[in-house]
This record gives sequence, C-alpha cells and structure tokens, in this order.
Amino acid sequence: MGAAVAATIPGIHHVTCITGDVQKCVDFYVGVLGLRFVKKSINQDLPDTYHIYFGDYLGTPGTAMTFFGWPTWPKQRAGSGQITTVSFQVPPGSLGFWSNRLKELRVDHRMVTTFETDALMLRDADGIELALVAQASDDRWKPWPDGPVDEEHAIRGFHSVTMTLAEMAATFNLLTTAMGFRVATQEGKTTRFETGQGGPHSVLDVIEAPEGPEGEESIGTVHHVAWRTPDPDAQVAWRDTLLTAGRNVTPVIDRWYFKSIYFREPGGVLFEIATDGPGFTVDESPEELGTGLSLPPWFQVRRDRLDEILPPIVVPTTATTGAH
Ligand code: ZN
Repeated sequence: MGAAVAATIPGIHHVTCITGDVQKCVDFYVGVLGLRFVKKSINQDLPDTYHIYFGDYLGTPGTAMTFFGWPTWPKQRAGSGQITTVSFQVPPGSLGFWSNRLKELRVDHRMVTTFETDALMLRDADGIELALVAQASDDRWKPWPDGPVDEEHAIRGFHSVTMTLAEMAATFNLLTTAMGFRVATQEGKTTRFETGQGGPHSVLDVIEAPEGPEGEESIGTVHHVAWRTPDPDAQVAWRDTLLTAGRNVTPVIDRWYFKSIYFREPGGVLFEIATDGPGFTVDESPEELGTGLSLPPWFQVRRDRLDEILPPIVVPTTATTGAH
C-alpha cells in the first residue's frame, strides 16, 4: 500500500468576471486585447443573462476569460476577499508593441516590474485590473489566425491571478497542503505560489492587506477563478480531498463545456475546479465558435425567449474597433 501521490493542479482553467455591458466587454477583449470570442451562452444559474467567453482560437483551458453580463448589478469596488488582478502572458519582446497599441486605442496603461519581470498594467471596460506580463510559453496556446493582433505578439493565455486577502494564514495552509501549491518567492506583501510545472498559467499571487477595503461582488470585479483538472475522476478525488480539508464543496455540476465543483478558500475567494474537457467545440465547430447562442441541451426549451430578451452582440472584426 504505497502512499497516495499528492494530486497537483496543472494551472488556471478560466477566470470569470462580472460586466455591466457585454458589448463594451466584447469590444475590449476582442478589439483591444485580440482574444477570440469563443462562446456566447447563458449563466446557468441566472439563465436570463449572458455568459460570454474569450480565449485563444479554441478557448483552451488556461486561456479562457469569461464574463457574466449583469447590467442591473451595482458597480462597487474590488478589494480583499477577491481576485484583484488578472494577468495575461505575452512574449518577452512584445511590451513595446502592446504599449503602442494601447496608446493608439486610448487605453491608459503603465509599465511596472514585479518579480523581476516587466508588465503593463491596465483596466478593462468595467475597470477590472489587468496585467500583460512579459513572460510566455506557447505550450497550451492555439493561435487565432484571423485575430486582430499579430501572432508574434498575441496574448498566450493567463499568466497568473492575484488575490488580495485580509489574512493569509488559513489560505496559505490550504494551498500548500491539500491543494498542492508551493511557495515560489515573495516580494513585499505579495507571496507567489506555483502549481503543476510552474511558470506562466500556473502562478497565484497572494497579497495580504489587513487594512482593506473589502471587495464587493459587483460589476467590474472578478467572480471566481477555476483551476484545471484533467478529467471527472480526478475532479471527484479533488472533491474528497477538499471536503476532508474542511471546505464546503458543491456537488459536481455539469456546465456542458466542462464539469465543475466550487468552494470558497478561507480568505473568501470563490474557487472552482473544472475539467479540461469536453471544451467549447462540444456544440460548435472550431471555425464557428462564438457565432450562435450556445445552450446546453437542458436549456434549449428557453431558446425562443432568450433570443427575445438577450441584447444582440456585435463582434468586432478589425484591429481598430476597440475603443468607443
Ligand atoms: Zn467558472
């Protein structure tokens, strides 16, 4: 009876945020950042509202930035108990290109250096803080040949997410024991964790900020981060591990594009663990991703009503349509 090999999370699966204006959101992520609009669907828990997905050509796990379209929600503030920065990876030589592009499209940005790596900081159309980090790997990336940003400079997917917590001890414990993360390094109030093979797409930064303010789940904030797991069996094992670690974990939920479990880490941030498959090509071919309203089979009965109530979305097709 050999000791069980501790499971590891390979990295980020997707990040989900709240937008107050799906059209401005699409204009920004496609028209400015050059991600592909890979899926137009609905929030399965609030099915009168959009859930839209951006990513690489296929929305490969590790590249999918997604939004709930909740226009009637308040716009409050990001803060502790939340993911406060979403970082994308771009090739090390591409920051000059990106700075020029953002200038042309009138998106404010500034250059920073964190953990000895250069990055551009900017905000999306809803005010969510983003970083373009000059450290990339092409391992998991499927380029979008018709994208508005040249492949040489295109975003490769997520680099990392940053959580801000009022207190880190319990989170540190969960991450480094049950969840298999390890501390990579530390700088000021930020502790950098890595999982899986480490490097871009598997980095989690945690800022301890007891002074607050506390974040509010609202427009312009990150709703949750999903971590990858290869398949449903591994996901069930994660569920057991997390229950044993004292987390209150949901049952497995079929999201159609992947299966998911959810729990809050001790600092209050909503974590999801999502399977790599089946992915966004489950109901659309790679060429037609994002072109229609995609609904899981059990929501098809609502299609006529949804066509009536959901506002149309126009996906920009050129590099110059980003800024309104
Ligand atoms: Zn999710």
